[in-house]
Amino acid sequence: MEVKVPGGNLHTVGGYARISDIGQLGDGRDGREGVLRQREDIYDLSKVKRCNVHRIYEDNDTSAFKRKVTRKEFEAMMTDLAAGVISGILAYNIDRLFRQPRDLERCIDIYEQARRPMIFATTAGDFDLTTSEGRFQARIYVTIANKFSADAARRVARQKKADALEGKPHRGQAPFGWKDAENLDPREAELLEVARKDIMRGKKVATVHREWAELNVRGRQTPEGKTISYTSVKYVLRNPRTCGYRSYIPQEVREHSGRVDPVEWLVERTDGTPITGQWEKLWTPTQWRDLVDVLDAHKKKNPGKGRKTGSTVTKRLMTNIARCGLCGTGLNSGMYTRGTKSYENYGYYYYCRVPDGGCGKIARSGPPVEDYVEKILLGHLKKQAAAVTPAKEENPELDKAKKKLKQVEDDKVEARRLRANDELSLGEFAREIRRLEEKERELKETVSQLSNTPVRASSAAARILREWGRYTVDMKRTEIMKSIEAVVVKPAGKGGNQQGFRPELIEIVWK
Ligand SMILES: [Zn+2]
Repeated sequence: MEVKVPGGNLHTVGGYARISDIGQLGDGRDGREGVLRQREDIYDLSKVKRCNVHRIYEDNDTSAFKRKVTRKEFEAMMTDLAAGVISGILAYNIDRLFRQPRDLERCIDIYEQARRPMIFATTAGDFDLTTSEGRFQARIYVTIANKFSADAARRVARQKKADALEGKPHRGQAPFGWKDAENLDPREAELLEVARKDIMRGKKVATVHREWAELNVRGRQTPEGKTISYTSVKYVLRNPRTCGYRSYIPQEVREHSGRVDPVEWLVERTDGTPITGQWEKLWTPTQWRDLVDVLDAHKKKNPGKGRKTGSTVTKRLMTNIARCGLCGTGLNSGMYTRGTKSYENYGYYYYCRVPDGGCGKIARSGPPVEDYVEKILLGHLKKQAAAVTPAKEENPELDKAKKKLKQVEDDKVEARRLRANDELSLGEFAREIRRLEEKERELKETVSQLSNTPVRASSAAARILREWGRYTVDMKRTEIMKSIEAVVVKPAGKGGNQQGFRPELIEIVWK
């Protein structure tokens, strides 16, 4: 339905209405009736703004704060906006539209890229998303709405919990890694820290799990007489709380989905930066993020199951790193026949396997090849550890961080200007400045880290040398693959394997 206004309409826009189940409870605009009133307001607004309302996009019974719930009509409206079907949005108010900062950012992207006149208006007040000032205001507004919504959601959850537990006192358990709500548990924190470092160097979660089981580590939900489960190990390592990030999982999501990945439920500010809690932290956000990335990468390699069960293929140090010198296929390993001399001396060998697409013509005893490659790699690392690398001239990452830092400084100036003109309340200003300063701190840290990269590389090499003895095969493989592209095993000729190990038949291809 289109509303025509005499004198000609300039824009065709979409109207947006939504029923909310959390938030402004009892403001008279919820439920079916609420949507009808929102519609009326939008049509009234369209007359004032001289717009055609292409149609009303209407989402029911969902809260925009619960980010897992897709708002179908909101999505349809974004698509129409991007495609040029509509050139603007009218809504009852901005927090009907964007509870999640990310929704606002997506919308801003479309406005910024549109090559046609655009409009944005709400009955509560206008935000012109086509100007930087309007975007700034909208971001602040949505920050507050988001915070309010998180608080409201928490209030609802707390109330529900209180109802359920009435007459049944229950003390909340501190999460794994903490002894209470605020302070780290030294032993568990140490376990987490060692595990993180090892996983970053290639150790598998399954190995961490085995080690923790041997140490009799127990999770918060571990049944009597058992040790921590594999799933719990993964869960506690991914917990955003370790770096201070607050996650919030609404009660009904917990109820319906069982164990939910808290990484997906961070409480965020307008610009997408997570809100941090006041408890003692174990890691920096970057350390936590890197760990989650590595864990996610494991998942991708091994879809459907977290742990390889029943796999009969042993991944040895050189599996697939060593390559056939004749056909280039990655080598696999096999055991020599029991009782033979080769079995006694070496145990296993690497070979080019026909089922892997190889020629089947190359085989070499395993341990001597491994010893040789390890020796070469450690020599390489020793050189690196000793090297005083000259400062790097150009680093695009560093430039990017510096630019971002400059932007944050400009934003601070802009916020102060708005405050001076009374366009920001003291509360809004304080919030915005706190957010910017936090970002500034992180960026400064990044800049200093990146500026010191060469020094770090040599100290990393020194550390690997120190700890190599306690590296697992997986950790060693990860380290090898950082510097070595392939280890080419060349044919030995007739009876070559009987003359002992010949290093000239091994070619290391460096990265
Ligand atoms: Zn081959």
